[in-house]
Amino acid sequence: MISRSPAPPPSQVGKVQEAATHAGGVDPCPAGWPRPRHDGLPVPWVTPVDRGCAHWALLHGERLRRCQEEWLCQVCGLPLPERAYVLADADGELTTSAAMHRRCTLLALTVCPGLPPDLLLAAVSRDDLLGDGVPLDERALSTWKSWSLTPGALAATTTVRADTVAISTAPDPTDGGSD
Ligand SMILES: [Zn+2]
Repeated sequence: MISRSPAPPPSQVGKVQEAATHAGGVDPCPAGWPRPRHDGLPVPWVTPVDRGCAHWALLHGERLRRCQEEWLCQVCGLPLPERAYVLADADGELTTSAAMHRRCTLLALTVCPGLPPDLLLAAVSRDDLLGDGVPLDERALSTWKSWSLTPGALAATTTVRADTVAISTAPDPTDGGSD
């Protein structure tokens, strides 16, 4: 007989993953590229993975906090350039309160089944973002904040459709553009 301990409650999944990793286990969802896969899909760094199960609808709170504090990519967990990307829904609300590399944004647009079809894409620096409604600063965070775009950054977004990946026509300051 194989006994299985019960799954942790949703709010604890990230903590369980972190504790197992700290206890000398292998991080099931490490930072880096390419991404590990579960259910045939690449798993973002901020998606909790526990006992071989990716919790797609949940966010790893501690990793999201680190993405915000250290300007890390939510998809691969690696450091971001000064300008990176965020995705927002048609109302301007960010799909996740963390930024991404260009390649990671393309990956999300291509394969992430949870994204709404019509999206706004913004190329942002930290100055273009608000955390719980106030400008980001360099202070340490005790927990992650809800990010939003400044009015100027919201006005400069590009409309993309997740199924057509129109990002390829969008200007890309992180690729060293002409301006
Ligand atoms: Zn990335």
